[in-house]
Amino acid sequence: MTSSIYFYYKKDHVTKETLELLEKLAISYQFVVTKKSNVADYIICLGDDGVFLQSVRNTGFRENCTYIGMSLTNAHGLYNDFSLEEPETLFQTLTFAPVETEQFPLVDVSINDEVPFYCLNEVSIRSSIIKTIAIEVYIDNLYLERFRGDGLIVSTPSGSTAYNKSLNGAILDPTMPCFQMTEIASLNNNDYRTLGTSLVLSHNKKLRLEIIQDGNDHPIIGLDNEAYAIRNINNISVQMTNKFIHLIKLPNNNYWERIKRTFL
Ligand code: NAP
Ligand code: MN
Repeated sequence: MTSSIYFYYKKDHVTKETLELLEKLAISYQFVVTKKSNVADYIICLGDDGVFLQSVRNTGFRENCTYIGMSLTNAHGLYNDFSLEEPETLFQTLTFAPVETEQFPLVDVSINDEVPFYCLNEVSIRSSIIKTIAIEVYIDNLYLERFRGDGLIVSTPSGSTAYNKSLNGAILDPTMPCFQMTEIASLNNNDYRTLGTSLVLSHNKKLRLEIIQDGNDHPIIGLDNEAYAIRNINNISVQMTNKFIHLIKLPNNNYWERIKRTFL
């Protein structure tokens, strides 16, 4: 059966000519090019990791397709395995190599107890003013600590190499279904005390963050690279989902190879 391909890109990043070339190549390798992301077998994201994150969000975190990142330059990000500099390699691989996939877990984030959102990298909560923000941290129903500082982020394993890494969080293998909370500049004094290290929680735990309503309760919330537009934030709950997205798995791109090529 012929497989279908959907190309995701930002209009001002990819020229009409490039897109036509990719579509022609796809057809010459017996693929069908579709304009419907909800039915495509392969979703090919043309751009860097930031565009990849948007493509996954804007196509609904589909579980029954394979996401493939194709960078516009020679540089590969964490999620990018192919490059527009050698476009044919992608179609040759899909045609001639056994295509396996690797699962990347998502977290589920509910803000003010409303319908949850998925995140592939992390949810970030940051003070939007010069003053610090105070947040009470609960694990399941256990009150753990009261944080005061610039903010907190909660990341997935594949997001652990992004914002979390800049905050000295650990890099986690995505085959472990767990998530990590990391502090952004915590105050630690006789009034406010936190563990001060990042926490890794197992998939059956629920993290609840209660924003202290002291006037600084309009933080900036980031869901991967998208800003959440709501005003007053009272609480945020984060847990693991049973949902995964699937990335192409080539002989040389297991997770630790991705890390090596991106950082070392
Ligand atoms: P950006 O500000 O352009 O991205 C920051 C950097 O993070 C870029 O180099 C991006 O790679 C890289 N990146 C994204 N996801 C990654 C991952 N899972 N592993 C390793 N590197 C990753 O914004 P963006 O490109 O839209 O990416 C959004 C992400 O930026 C957020 O989800 C957050 O994790 C991260 N971020 C980091 C900081 C920080 O480190 N201080 C602050 C804010 C946000 P590309 O160049 O390939 O896009
Ligand atoms: Mn970027």
